[in-house]
Amino acid sequence: MRHANVAVFVPHIGCPHRCSFCNQWTITGKTKQPSPDDVRNAAETAVASLGEKTKEAEIAFFGGSFTAISPDYRRSLLEAAAPYVRSGQFRGIRLSTRPDAIDDAILDELCNYGVTTVELGAQSMDDAVLLKNGRGHTAEQVRTASHAILERHLCLGLQMMTGLPGDTPEGACRTARYFAELHPQEVRIYPAIVLPGTQMAEWYRSGSYQPETLEEAVALCAGLLQYFEERGIRVIRLGLHASPELEKQRLAGPWHPAFRELCEGRRWLVRMQSAFHSLPQGSYTLMVPEKFLSQIKGQKKSNLLALAQLGYQVTVKPGGSFILYGDDGSILVKENFINAGSLT
Ligand code: SF4
Repeated sequence: MRHANVAVFVPHIGCPHRCSFCNQWTITGKTKQPSPDDVRNAAETAVASLGEKTKEAEIAFFGGSFTAISPDYRRSLLEAAAPYVRSGQFRGIRLSTRPDAIDDAILDELCNYGVTTVELGAQSMDDAVLLKNGRGHTAEQVRTASHAILERHLCLGLQMMTGLPGDTPEGACRTARYFAELHPQEVRIYPAIVLPGTQMAEWYRSGSYQPETLEEAVALCAGLLQYFEERGIRVIRLGLHASPELEKQRLAGPWHPAFRELCEGRRWLVRMQSAFHSLPQGSYTLMVPEKFLSQIKGQKKSNLLALAQLGYQVTVKPGGSFILYGDDGSILVKENFINAGSLT
């Protein structure tokens, strides 16, 4: 329940300019700015349907640059949300914003209203990539804002993108390493998707920008997922939220409705390749906890097919803790595959 938040979208307000990739109206499917009543209605609806569970949830303002919107409007939204936190019906308030829209006065205000989590849209820690994509802030501003947020004992979330114009997979890995140095509690990872009405769409149409393929994005993001989780940093989202509007309007880019599943499956493939590496080719049965069964098999059994191409005919069954049997029934490996193989 920790992340089953009540989301209020504030599309495109507070942004001093448009980033190369951004068309918030397509991403969220929302064009109307929310009113304080909308915030109250969303909170009341959640309380009515979820009951006690909202005590672990946050009221979340997503989509724009929340701390850069006009102070009166911002406070009216926070004032609508704050009573639900003070009464204990919600755990807190979450918002996303730009790194250059954080300062001491803003943080004082957020703390007074019961904000618990601030997510920074960092996207990259490479200044050249930030400049090319019209972000209007620097990597140093991400660092400064992150330190200030953590000093207030707020939960820090950092958002990064892969496949941005001017970026590379190696660049994305550097961004991940810089993120880890900032000690966020959580990150979101979004492969860049080409949306209509954006600068990126113009670059794509002119041929000067080629988005990642789905395969490239899955391979990279599976590695990033592993990297962050190894360091105790939660990856709370991988890939844009599926919406009919996004699916309809997307021009290009590595979008998949189950993108995270693909990345989780890829992690298991790498682990299994590592674990099987030292074993002779042949037939095996792998007993695994049921909750991992579909990820280990991969979408449409793609992981098992990949292992078969290496000469390993693997049958995966639920009901064990990563016990591998040879075709004569002997136990060959009795170890936790979670620790096998490294992606970074
Ligand atoms: S700051 Fe965020 S919401 Fe604003 S244009 Fe850039 S990506 Fe979009």
